[in-house]
Amino acid sequence: SASKDKREKAAMIEIDGAQGEGGGQILRSALSLSMITGQPFRLVNIRAGRSKPGLLRQHLLAVQAAASICGARMSPVALGASRLEFTPGTIRGGDYRFAIGSAGSCTLVLQTLLPALLHADAPSTVRISGGTHNAMAPPVHFLQRAYGRILAQMGAQVQIELLRYGFVPAGGGEVLATVQPSHLRPIELLQRGERQAGFAESMVAGVPVGVAQRELERIAGGMGWSGKQLRIVGLPADQGPGNVLLLTLEHEHVTEVFTAFGEKSVLAESVAKRLLNEVRGYLKTDAAVSVHLADQLLLPMALAGGGAFSCSKVSQHALTNAEVIARFLPVRIGFEQHGLSHLCTVSAA
Ligand code: ATP
Repeated sequence: SASKDKREKAAMIEIDGAQGEGGGQILRSALSLSMITGQPFRLVNIRAGRSKPGLLRQHLLAVQAAASICGARMSPVALGASRLEFTPGTIRGGDYRFAIGSAGSCTLVLQTLLPALLHADAPSTVRISGGTHNAMAPPVHFLQRAYGRILAQMGAQVQIELLRYGFVPAGGGEVLATVQPSHLRPIELLQRGERQAGFAESMVAGVPVGVAQRELERIAGGMGWSGKQLRIVGLPADQGPGNVLLLTLEHEHVTEVFTAFGEKSVLAESVAKRLLNEVRGYLKTDAAVSVHLADQLLLPMALAGGGAFSCSKVSQHALTNAEVIARFLPVRIGFEQHGLSHLCTVSAA
């Protein structure tokens, strides 16, 4: 077809995976935006900034899943690969199932596919198995409550279900997303607004319930919260071992979810303290969103053609993501410091 011919002639976007943070986000954002815009890309030095560079299972699956959703042509890929050429085809809605085959993050793979499926010709379901609560990735609850709430405000019809928990190292978790093709609208998120709810949950799988009790006691003390705001979620031992501590703050305009993981050699009190420090870092500013939501909102806002938000911190991750996004879309992404907060604006270039 004419549009396919046009795609084949589109110039390769050349991306250096060592730029900025040099992490997996460069690959994931390039995949999402290549699928959506039809522009092919060549990525070299994949994850050169990381101690184990190249494609790990999570990244490899993101590439394969993206390719199957849009019928892409690509260079041969394998674990550890440091380069990729990807020429997208047309995004097709449908029922998809992908397995990471390790405890690699399901949510990062899902976040790569979601924006593309919003642009598909038909509704989709995507089931991904692997890790659902990983350090250095958004836990499923974060996607549902924080990222998902803003996507919904932007007009995206997406539902995310957690079917089974998966922790490092066992994995075996499963997440299911249902996506209706939707048009993203720009939004401005400058204030968080009044607090409407705050609660903490400790999930334990194959870990003594006393660990959860001690974490939550410490959170209660630190936040001045009562028992009603604390919840222990006991999971079947075969979904573990794992322990994740989540603290959710619902404000009028935005919901944030903060996460810490229990570890064998770390005291429950220290896990809670780590989490409290993060929450305080956010609350001492008047920003709408915290550091992770900030880097994750850039791509949907750029697809919407504009938007703005205030955030408590701008990470290297966000700056690098902004650079990659601007290679595919005609947008300008700017960050300005205002007191303790930062204002991020996404506008047409
Ligand atoms: P690598 O860079 O090693 O490839 P990766 O691909 O697993 O690692 P990053 O590129 O570091 O991951 O991206 C991590 C993503 O996960 C970022 O978007 C970040 O905001 C998000 N993230 C990390 N920790 C949290 C958290 N606690 N809550 C929500 N999101 C998180």
